[in-house]
Amino acid sequence: MSGKHLLELENISLNYHTLKDETTAIKDITMHVDTKEFISIVGPSGCGKTTLLSIIAGILKPSHGKITLNGRPIAETKNQIGYMFQRDQLFEWRTVLQNVRLGLEITHNRDPENEKYLNELLDKYGLGDFRDKYPHHLSGGMRQRVALIRTLVLRPEILLLDEPFGALDYQTRRTVIQDVSSIITREEKTSILVTHDLSEAVSLSDRIIVLSKRPSIVKAEFKTNLRKLENIEERKRTEEYKRIVDEIWKELEN
Ligand code: ADP
Ligand code: MG
Repeated sequence: MSGKHLLELENISLNYHTLKDETTAIKDITMHVDTKEFISIVGPSGCGKTTLLSIIAGILKPSHGKITLNGRPIAETKNQIGYMFQRDQLFEWRTVLQNVRLGLEITHNRDPENEKYLNELLDKYGLGDFRDKYPHHLSGGMRQRVALIRTLVLRPEILLLDEPFGALDYQTRRTVIQDVSSIITREEKTSILVTHDLSEAVSLSDRIIVLSKRPSIVKAEFKTNLRKLENIEERKRTEEYKRIVDEIWKELEN
């Protein structure tokens, strides 16, 4: 396997070292992601999901194994991975526009073309009138949208989402999940979502990868056709959704 898929992980393991001992967080993970796929990674808390995303982002170097993006070692690719966290991490003293522009400033990519792109995204996703407002004027849902746009303006090849809906209350959460899902589909982004919420994972994804408990390996994988439906609540009413959630539950229980 090499360069056949957009992202390829081959026998990845990671050991954390502390002064006293060594923890094997990830034991042996082989997986791939294709262009425009929406993948979810689920597994018990502490099984190494965040660790795995950090490896894909190039923040952590695996202890063993190989990881490539477009056939090239991940360490050689620059700024091609976007990361969205549970907390939106907006800067309160910067306006919406200044927040969205931040990544472009840091990476020295602030040019007229990108400036145009970010303004288009703000307009397209209902934030045009809030350009000059500060984050505390926005609802939780709007803040998450700003965070997503800030990542998208960098035109990442892959978008990593680490429990991005975890901190939202139930009502907001439904809207934000629908928003984020629609934006990712419209912008044709390849995405990897990490979550412990099975309903979130199944309803959003083309494919769900189930990890075992630590030290983790890939335990099972499930495919869905649910993304052909735009509406998430509609996806959840299908037999397919219910069947797959059931099957993953069984997988996690044994
Ligand atoms: P998840 O995101 O699935 O909850 P993590 O990837 O955060 O899991 O953590 C996996 C395991 O590695 C956990 O047992 C955690 O305690 C351990 N771990 C995470 N980060 C560190 C670190 N910086 N140093 C040592 N151990 C760590
Ligand atoms: Mg985590």
